[in-house]
Amino acid sequence: MYKECRNILPDGSRCHAVALKDAAYCYHHDRIHRALRTGNNHQQPATVRL
Ligand SMILES: [Zn+2]
Repeated sequence: MYKECRNILPDGSRCHAVALKDAAYCYHHDRIHRALRTGNNHQQPATVRL
C-alpha cells in the first residue's frame, strides 16, 4: 500500500503522485516543503530554487 502526496495544488485539487516512503509528499513536493521549512530563518527571506 502506498500513500498519496498530500500537496494541494493552487486549483484546489490534490497531487496524486505517490508519496515518498517517509514523507507526506511526492519527490517533487517534498523538496519544495523541505526548502520552505529549512529556509525559514529570520536572517534572510526564504529563497526557493526550483
Ligand atoms: Zn506531489
